[in-house]
Amino acid sequence: MSNIKRFTNGKIYTSNPDQPYAEAMAVENGRITWIGKTDELPNEGETIDLNGKRVIPGIIDAHLHPLYVADSVKQLPCTLPVVASIEDIKKLIRDKREVIGEDEWIEGWGYDEGKLAEGRTPNRFDIDDVCSDVPVVLTRTCVHIISVNSKALQLAGITKDTPDPAGGKIDRDENGEPTGVLRESARLLVLKKMPVKSVGENAHSLAELSDTLLSKGITGMTEMMALAEPFDYYEMYVQAKAAGMKQRIAIAYTFDEYKKRGNYSVAEKDIHSQVHIGGVKMFSDGSVSGRTAWVHESFLGEEDSFGIATTTEEELLKAGEAAKAEGVQLIAHAMGGKAIDFVVDLFNGKADWLTDRPSVRVEHAAMPSGNALLKAAESGLAFVPQSIFLFAEIESYLKNLGHERTKTTYPIQTFIDAGILTALSSDAPATAWSDPVNPFVSMQAAVTRIAYEGTDTGQSERIDIETAISLYTKGAQEVTGIPGVGQLKEGYAADFVVLNEDILSMDSNRIGEVMVEETYMAGESVYRRETKETSVVG
Ligand SMILES: [Zn+2]
Repeated sequence: MSNIKRFTNGKIYTSNPDQPYAEAMAVENGRITWIGKTDELPNEGETIDLNGKRVIPGIIDAHLHPLYVADSVKQLPCTLPVVASIEDIKKLIRDKREVIGEDEWIEGWGYDEGKLAEGRTPNRFDIDDVCSDVPVVLTRTCVHIISVNSKALQLAGITKDTPDPAGGKIDRDENGEPTGVLRESARLLVLKKMPVKSVGENAHSLAELSDTLLSKGITGMTEMMALAEPFDYYEMYVQAKAAGMKQRIAIAYTFDEYKKRGNYSVAEKDIHSQVHIGGVKMFSDGSVSGRTAWVHESFLGEEDSFGIATTTEEELLKAGEAAKAEGVQLIAHAMGGKAIDFVVDLFNGKADWLTDRPSVRVEHAAMPSGNALLKAAESGLAFVPQSIFLFAEIESYLKNLGHERTKTTYPIQTFIDAGILTALSSDAPATAWSDPVNPFVSMQAAVTRIAYEGTDTGQSERIDIETAISLYTKGAQEVTGIPGVGQLKEGYAADFVVLNEDILSMDSNRIGEVMVEETYMAGESVYRRETKETSVVG
């Protein structure tokens, strides 16, 4: 029995360059069989009125860390725009304490003392003030530093007499008492006392996260740092699917984890499977915020601070050979100009083992040289930038690069002009923003090139909203290879999103506020926003 639906009366943006706009679609067994004007729509099937709303294809987040996002949504967001002071963090902790049991931990993430009104790192005394009977762990935005309360220090056995562990530091006051701030390996003293989640529990949180992602229009995604231990991520995502996760997902293991795990099986690599393995991931440098991106020009204020190369030519080539042998993508993290040149030069003219998607992806691509742009375009390498980094982490870009150089980073319009295959993505939760996975915040950042606090991040690299949507849908499909999605056209899956406002014509400074009314996958409604009857229409 075929299942035919007619979607009428929409303002559809299709991401299909041959037919960018439409009003109506016919969908049969989950696939679009016809798209065009409402009055020309075939008459067969159940009719669903789109009520004149703006419709876009389902969003595909080409660079995401879903398990970390699933963890972080259960934690307190200690970041803008929710939190602007230690007092705000204390209020979140106080409220959380009222709704949890005595055997639970309270976790928060994302604080950055530079963005807190007090201008300092929260310590044990701040937290004890509002919660002293259950352990509290707040993770700094960089993930290398935590602030904990006295209860957590006590559970970890950390006292005045505890020595700093190798590769770590316990911050202390003038009397030698721990302040509750633990750096690098000293964090583990507390973290190893926390309850460990099983693969089944994680799968369950991913299934819950799936609804949150659908509420932001995300119907396709990637796992950019899959691990083989202590449990296997592919197995976890298969379980998550069984538990109700709806998104189509391509997984990449880091090369080290791949070596532990062994070969990918044919079934695991089946790109037509909702859950499949699509790549091998490598890191060729660090980050701009940590001054570890491998750059051509020294970081601001120092003469010879060029970041670090985190791998060798030999190792990167080996990872490339493994990806080629497996028939999957090599996915290379490269932020600084030198790191990007390193990857692009190494695979120039050799990135040809896949035909249905780029063989080599360059993640972040913050500061590509002219050489890299030329060769990446020639050799078919894809670039995956994150416009939200400039929007949310502007302080760190200004501090490490200065304003003029910041304006040249993530030059998305230049990528397009150079003919480089490009996808927008969030890299959530690796961003200091309380709702990092929200694609509309990334779109706003790419369209306006204005940071959250008003700094101009490079007007010549602005793209228009249609392009931003295309890079998050069609572009992301082309980069990830997830088949049959990313555009609303005949033969494609009916994955689409109904928005509360017309994202194409609204004030671009408000794009981040757009809300999803309804999300469809394969023609079925998988998310509908609950609107309260009492809500005020403004
Ligand atoms: Zn990432």
